[in-house]
Amino acid sequence: MEQKYCLVCEKPVKEGLRILASLLCSECEQELLKLAVSDPKYSLYVDKLKSVIASVCVQQQV
Ligand SMILES: [Zn+2]
Repeated sequence: MEQKYCLVCEKPVKEGLRILASLLCSECEQELLKLAVSDPKYSLYVDKLKSVIASVCVQQQV
């Protein structure tokens, strides 16, 4: 099986929240849920998610 890495902390993940082809580990998932939208870290997470979604969209156009 292919080793997956958390898209936020980049640690190896066995099971986590699946976002398209990527994974968010449970630690980061909890962290994200705790963050306020006004927190600078929140936009960092959102940027990471956006880049994942963008890369998947590019792959699907091929
Ligand atoms: Zn993580």
